[in-house]
Order: sequence, then C-alpha cells, then structure tokens
Amino acid sequence: MFEYAPAPESRSVVEIASSYGLFIDGSFDGGKDGDVFKTVNPATEEVLAEVASAGPEDVDRAVAAARRAFGTWSALPGAERAKYLFRIARIIQERSRELAVLESLDNGKPIRESRDVDLPLVAAHFFYYAGWADKLGHAGFGPDPRPLGVAAQVIPWNFPLLMLAWKVAPALATGNTVVLKPAETTPLSALFFADVCRQAELPAGVVNIVTGAGDTGAYLVAHPDVDKVAFTGSTEVGREIARTVSGTGKRLTLELGGKAANIVFDDAPIDQAVEGIVNGIFFNQGHVCCAGSRLLVQESVFEPLMDSLKRRMATLRVGDPLDKNTDVGAINSAAQLTRIRELSEIGSAEGAERWSPDCQLPDRGFWFAPTIFTGVTQAHRIAREEIFGPVLSVLTFRTPDEAVAKANNTPYGLSAGIWSEKGSRILAVADQLRAGVVWANTFNKFDPASPFGGYKESGYGREGGRHGLEAYLA
Ligand code: NDP
Repeated sequence: MFEYAPAPESRSVVEIASSYGLFIDGSFDGGKDGDVFKTVNPATEEVLAEVASAGPEDVDRAVAAARRAFGTWSALPGAERAKYLFRIARIIQERSRELAVLESLDNGKPIRESRDVDLPLVAAHFFYYAGWADKLGHAGFGPDPRPLGVAAQVIPWNFPLLMLAWKVAPALATGNTVVLKPAETTPLSALFFADVCRQAELPAGVVNIVTGAGDTGAYLVAHPDVDKVAFTGSTEVGREIARTVSGTGKRLTLELGGKAANIVFDDAPIDQAVEGIVNGIFFNQGHVCCAGSRLLVQESVFEPLMDSLKRRMATLRVGDPLDKNTDVGAINSAAQLTRIRELSEIGSAEGAERWSPDCQLPDRGFWFAPTIFTGVTQAHRIAREEIFGPVLSVLTFRTPDEAVAKANNTPYGLSAGIWSEKGSRILAVADQLRAGVVWANTFNKFDPASPFGGYKESGYGREGGRHGLEAYLA
C-alpha cells in the first residue's frame, strides 16, 4: 500500500478571534447577561474561541430586529432580494478556502469534504435560491405567494454551514427574515456567515444569529412573534418542538434522523457498490442523517462483498482533518463519541460480530475507527437506532421482497440506496421503499434543485428545490 506524506492545509488562511458575540440587527454584541461557552477543535480538544450564550432577552432582541426588518425586506422586488443572495453566494465562493478550514477546525470533518462538498454546496444553494427570488409567482404556489414573516431556524452540528444555507437561502429568497441558532459545538461558521452578510451589505435584521445551547433553541422556537420554525436535529428534540409549536399557528418543518437501508443485489457491480457503501457510512464520520447505516446484502454475494469492503476499509486514512489525504476525521464531541461507543458495545453484547481495520488513532481528541458489524438481526439495537457515527450494521436478504420488508422495517424514512444492474429492478424496489430520497447506484448525492426530507419519524416538509420554497410561503 502507498505511504502518503502529510499534506496539511494551512491553518493561517482563517483568523479566529478569541471571543464572539451574538449577531443581532446587523452588529455583534456580547449578550445581555454576559454568559459564554467554549467551542473546541474535536481533533485536538484545543479551545478555538469563547462564544456568547444568548438568553431570553437576547432572543427577544433578535426576533424584534427580524420583525422590524421584515417590512422592508418582504416589500423589496424579488430581483432586488436576488442581488443580495447572488452577492452572498459569490462572497462564499471567494472565501471558501477560509470557511472550509474553519468548518474542519470546529467540526472535525476532513478538509477534503469541507472543501469539495460542503462549501461548493453552500454557494450552490444561495445561487439556486437567488434564481427563484423573482420567479415566485411562477413556482406553482399561486400568482402572488406571500412570505410568512420571521423564521426561527435551529440547526445541528454535522453540516453547520450547509444546514445554515439550506435554511437561510430559501427563507430570504421568499422575503422572510430569520433568527438562526447554530449548534453549541459548531457555532463558528454561522458567525463567519454573519460577517459575509455584512460584507454583502444585507440590510440589518434580515439575518440574526443567536448562539447558545438547547435552552436558547427552545426559547427561540417558543417565541410568540415567530411565524415559522425550521429544525434539523434529533427526533427527540423534534418531537419536543412539535409539541411546543402545536396549536400556535406557526408553520413547522422538521428534518430528523434516519436509519437508511443501502441495498446491494447480487447483480450489482461489486467494486462500485463498495465505494457507495463506504461513502454512504464513512462520509463525514457517519454524522449524516441520511447515512447508509444499514447495509442489506443479497446472501449469494455476501462473502465477496464483505471481502472487498474490508480491503477497501483498510485503506481509509483516519486522522488530522486538515490533512488533504484524510478520509475520516474526528467525532464532533465527547458526548457523541460516548453515544457511538455505547451503541457499539451494545452491538457486541447482543451478539453481532465487530470488525475494524487496523488504524492508529491520535492520542488527543475524539476518535472512532471505521467499524462494521456482521451477523446483525433486525432485533438488534444497532439495526434500529441511529448511531450517527462511522458504524455500519450488515444484514442479509434472499429475495427483493425480503429486502423491501427489511428496508422499511424502521421508524425512520429519510433515505435509501439500491445497487443493481437492472433498471427495472431499481424502479420496482424504489417504488416500494418508504424513504424521502432513494439513490440508485450511488449514495449521498445532493443538489440544491432536488427536494430532501423524510417520512415517519424522519420528519416532515421538504428542503431544497422548488418544494423548499413552499415551506416559507403563505
Ligand atoms: P439535537 O437535536 O439535540 O440538536 C440539534 C439542534 O437543536 C442544536 O442546535 C441544539 O442545540 C438544539 N436543541 C437542543 N435542544 C433543543 C430544544 N429543546 N429546543 C430547541 N432546540 C434544541 O441533537 P444532538 O446534537 O444532541 O445529537 C443527538 C443525536 O441526534 C445524535 O446522536 C444523532 O443521532 C441525532 N442527530 C441527528 C441529526 C440529523 O441531521 N438528523 C443532526 C444532529 C443530531 P445544542 O447544540 O446547543 O444542544
């Protein structure tokens, strides 16, 4: 096998201040009660910065600023709003190297992914929705669709800037104003985005960023002057938010967890399928709501597929997220690492067979080696619960009907993958899968023009594409 020389991306392309305030009404301030929390680099446990924690009064100020800005922002012609969105998209492209390094430092994801996947998609979302801003009357929602008002947006830590783009771009294009709360462990790219908004001369109050923990999010979504709530995160918190919002008249979209089946039929090209399996579960350390975390393999190809998969996994490079050769970076937080460890231990205790390639994990930071479990049954917790880490549960099937039954045997319904040479089989199986997105002979492909969202406990509403506009229009 090859030995690679280290190829670290330069950290000096990003300047991280020692402390950050809240972004309210176009400027940064420290927050009313002066509370702060620290954000760390999960690969080293080094503190990156201190960040203000927004209390109720701060959230009130942010919502009030968004409300004031709504009048003028929503009254602008769509073509004028589009100009700001195009400007934001171009600034993101110009600053993409800086933002990619920042995202890898705060999140732990490999620079190869933040540089080649996250940042290009972030810019693409702003470009895409900029294009819609002056065509809303032709989007199929009536001749004069109206914005809802102030949108409260709460996002998770797995794709911090991309989730921000998924939420902010359609909201702004449709004439809404926003108050966004990033996750506690990854606040920095949202704060840099606030700076991008200033650079784009976006009117004050159109975008407000309140950093903090779960309480800040809970207060924001419950705020009486919010018209729309958009949340991505765990099913548990999603349920709590649904209860808070119910009966208030606020519009709600929830994008929650998943336990996607990646189904490999015996006629699939094995090497291509192996790449798709690896991408499906080890991309972003498996911190992906639509990760292909349940591999369903047709029994007759189980052994050759496992041999190839293990060979391929042995070539994955785990380590420094800023090294351009790294495939698998750091787990985002100590809490998430504990959860992955616990569920993996439960997998072994319940009788599944655990395997990881030999790999040297760094001494400091939060790390978990890519892992597969074979001999998994549908009753095992690792086949039912979202692990949200680089852990794959492998099950087998004999017939297409059995594959469909097993794939659908989950409380979730966000995504699925099918690997087969036969187009007719792909279409027939895809038709029966209860999943919002079904990939065929590929996995984890995203495009701003394509709607994304789930069934059942994976949430409701769609983000992306023309469908993504609907969630922000009356
Ligand atoms: P959460 O659902 O707790 O976090 C998502 C966002 O919601 C964060 O900004 C969080 O803030 C905020 N939040 C937390 N509690 C509340 C509340 N009561 N009201 C409003 N907002 C709130 O996910 P976790 O980070 O705790 O991850 C736990 C598990 O959830 C993971 O192991 C994974 O299985 C799943 N998950 C799924 C994601 C997905 O995309 N489907 C994304 C992230 C996690 P804060 O960060 O400060 O807690």
